[in-house]
Amino acid sequence: MKMGTRTGLVWHETFMWHQQGKFSGLMPAIYPVQPGHHYETPESKRRIKNLFDASGLTRKLAHIEPRPATDAELQRVHKPDYLAQLARDNELPEASAGFDAPFSRGSFDFARLAAGGAIEAVDQILKGDLDNAYLLARPVGHHAESGIGKGFCLVNNASIAAAHALASGLERVAFVDVDVHHGNGAEEIFWRDPRVLTISVHQDRWFPPDTGDVSAVGEGPGKGFNLNIPLPAGCGFGAYKAVVDEVIVPALEIYRPQMLFVPFGFDAGAQDPLGRMILGSNHFRYIASELRAASQRHCGGKMLVTHEGGYNEATTPFMALAMIEAVSGIDSGVTDPYGAIMDGMPGHEILPHQRAAVDAARANLDGIRAATGA
Ligand code: ZN
Repeated sequence: MKMGTRTGLVWHETFMWHQQGKFSGLMPAIYPVQPGHHYETPESKRRIKNLFDASGLTRKLAHIEPRPATDAELQRVHKPDYLAQLARDNELPEASAGFDAPFSRGSFDFARLAAGGAIEAVDQILKGDLDNAYLLARPVGHHAESGIGKGFCLVNNASIAAAHALASGLERVAFVDVDVHHGNGAEEIFWRDPRVLTISVHQDRWFPPDTGDVSAVGEGPGKGFNLNIPLPAGCGFGAYKAVVDEVIVPALEIYRPQMLFVPFGFDAGAQDPLGRMILGSNHFRYIASELRAASQRHCGGKMLVTHEGGYNEATTPFMALAMIEAVSGIDSGVTDPYGAIMDGMPGHEILPHQRAAVDAARANLDGIRAATGA
């Protein structure tokens, strides 16, 4: 580890070798669909790493070498029969893990390596060698549930990492999922678990289309410990700032987690093909810096960011750079060429129907208070 470096980067070349198969957009490329490429390609992710490299940022971060997660580590989160299905189908030229989760031969090996990389990051953070880390891996994870894959995800990297942190002795952790799509995986996995506060801010009824409602608060011993913040399409910084300042940060204040897990997507970015929000890199910077500050207040700085969505190849790298600058406290010296355009877009002021959505989610803070006895 380099002296003074407190932020780690989990990266492995083979993360970019996961392929969905013969697709175009979300559709199998069978007539009348002309073959093209799936929405989730390596390019937007590889360009993040390339920008980190080109700007000199990579060498200022600690490299975390991933290793494959073991069956026991995966089984803390996933059902054995689902893992057996992935292992079996991993030998096929093309297969599916579930709704919108195609993969091809070898993808489960890459998924295992991504999950193991998240676990390695947790170990180094809990040892005190690092404060926080960014897992820049494919396949991504936040839609994967205990017994089925969804939305480009095979195994749930962030949830496997959180389960590892709990198995290592932590008693209370929190998720803040800022991908434009619902963090349904962690919600389902920890639905009845009071040791995990799962928070997700996302576009309402987008993906998965049937989850993410504000009324879903957990059940049994987990009741009160799930906080959904569904937002109408078209939100800008005003709505997101209100969500962070009035809902997410106060929820963390009440719950006082010992470590933060942040499934971070950049698909709430303006011009993303799979989201309908208008954030720019400076807005992601604000979200990341507020989460880092919360991790410093409650968790001794312990935070793991896992890469999730972000599909605009041109803009996503600059958004990820702003995020990692905020999380690491290191200035890359790079100015986002899209930054001024996105900051200047109309629509960043919070509108009345966006305000109503924030207020509805904020009302659930009482449930967290009641459940924690705070
Ligand atoms: Zn997404």
